[in-house]
Amino acid sequence: MARLAGKVALVTGGASVPGLGSATAIRFAQEGATVYLTDRDLAGAQAVAAQITAAGGRATALEHDVTSEADWDRVLAAIDAAEGRLDILVNNAGIAVLGPLEDVTAADFLRQNDVNLNSVFHGSKRALVMMRRPGDGGTARGGSIINISSVAGLIGVPGCGSYAASKGGVRLFSKVVALEGAADGVRCNSVHPGMIATNIQGVALEDNAANFDAVMALIPMVRMGEPEDIANMNLFLASDESRYITGAEFVVDGGMTA
Ligand code: NAD
Repeated sequence: MARLAGKVALVTGGASVPGLGSATAIRFAQEGATVYLTDRDLAGAQAVAAQITAAGGRATALEHDVTSEADWDRVLAAIDAAEGRLDILVNNAGIAVLGPLEDVTAADFLRQNDVNLNSVFHGSKRALVMMRRPGDGGTARGGSIINISSVAGLIGVPGCGSYAASKGGVRLFSKVVALEGAADGVRCNSVHPGMIATNIQGVALEDNAANFDAVMALIPMVRMGEPEDIANMNLFLASDESRYITGAEFVVDGGMTA
């Protein structure tokens, strides 16, 4: 069954392997979507696109710094020119600046928010305009915007001050997008991963090795999740199976916040 047949998707931060963006792009393509995966690491995104294409899927890699409004305009114009539509946006690109507050500089804090939160504003605002455009029937085509937050956007986690601020912002911003887009069939939801085994966690855990055991003790399932666990949640939210779901948050964390 091709759950995303005929749909055009944009996934940001798609270069990292293992990463949530690449796993999502691969999963979407398996279900019939035409996928645009973007990243500031173009070579990495191209490698993932090549893997999708080799498996019979449709994927295009584009260079994209999600903090740049000019890049957002260029990427969406390219998709519009090629496809004439955008059905799914996954705002996935993100960074994690971790550490106790006294060690976090103002520059770190601003950068964290620029990459994790401002980017979601830039992308959602533009996607809303594209998704509101009339389709064949003359009414708004609609679409699904999926914003990747974190458990740190739901509960306080020591050492995550700037990260939590950005991810908490993503959660609440998503609800506003949902409310403003609802009447035109544009849905927006946030996804809150716990500890998922990707490059971002590799770095975070390397930098915070002392915290590793303590963090594991907080996960009732006592293991990290796999990128595919998030990709499958994203697939559900991207598909019409979730057509009555908007403004909601979806926690995928092995019970961490239960
Ligand atoms: P990752 O580091 O493996 O991948 C992140 C990708 O984003 C990389 O390819 C990187 O190049 C890209 N990126 C970073 N800054 C960018 C920018 N300015 N413009 C464009 N691309 C940029 O991380 P991941 O684990 O795959 O995380 C994906 C998302 O999930 C992030 O938003 C992260 O905060 C969130 N998240 C991850 C976890 C986890 O445990 N892995 C948990 C909660 C939330």
